[in-house]
Amino acid sequence: MKIYSDPRLLSLGIVHGTTAREAGNMRLAENTQALFSSLNIPEENILRFKQTHSDRLICVSSAEQARQIRQNAVEEADGWILSGLRGFGAAILTADCVPLLVWDEKANVVGLSHCGWRGVAAQLPQKTAQAVRQCGGKGRLCAWAGPHIQSCCFEVQQDVAAQFPGCVLHKNGKMYVDLNKEIARQLTAARLNMQDIRFPYYCTCGDRANFFSYRRDHTKDAMLTFIYRP
Ligand SMILES: [Zn+2]
Repeated sequence: MKIYSDPRLLSLGIVHGTTAREAGNMRLAENTQALFSSLNIPEENILRFKQTHSDRLICVSSAEQARQIRQNAVEEADGWILSGLRGFGAAILTADCVPLLVWDEKANVVGLSHCGWRGVAAQLPQKTAQAVRQCGGKGRLCAWAGPHIQSCCFEVQQDVAAQFPGCVLHKNGKMYVDLNKEIARQLTAARLNMQDIRFPYYCTCGDRANFFSYRRDHTKDAMLTFIYRP
């Protein structure tokens, strides 16, 4: 099964990545079950929330807290910070929005946030990095973004363009936003080094063979980005 992931995180033993279209619509339980069982991840230990395009982050720092979150009704939020947890993970759905991972040197603290343009405008990438530090992240932080809509396809109108000064491209009388540029700006403002920020160029909207895209297809089909620390 094709999974997009970051070699730096893999080398730290963190199971993670973003699924491709071939894994199916990850809103369906049968598809998430197939994914997690193929990776030997206990799905009952994967934290999920109801995504609302907010800037709310939930920091989880004990197994007991993680179990409580699993037992209770799904909370509304757009980012997880997992601090010092083993045997637990988290997952988010995307279909153009940016799945952003931020972690500290030893991946003792990992953040996973769902950054649509509203979340980016609300500074969610910067808040994710700051929360990784506040929840115990030490030393250099690293970041990676899974497949999302790129500036080749992210055409916007003036109302959205106005929220991303310095990140708008003009082409044939149309406007496109470069979310990567704005996210990198926020992460460097949170004291990450440019060379520790990696955004592989996969465009969900432009690559129909590999990705679902809400903007292209207007369906609710979605990919899953997950992180799990054994
Ligand atoms: Zn594109």
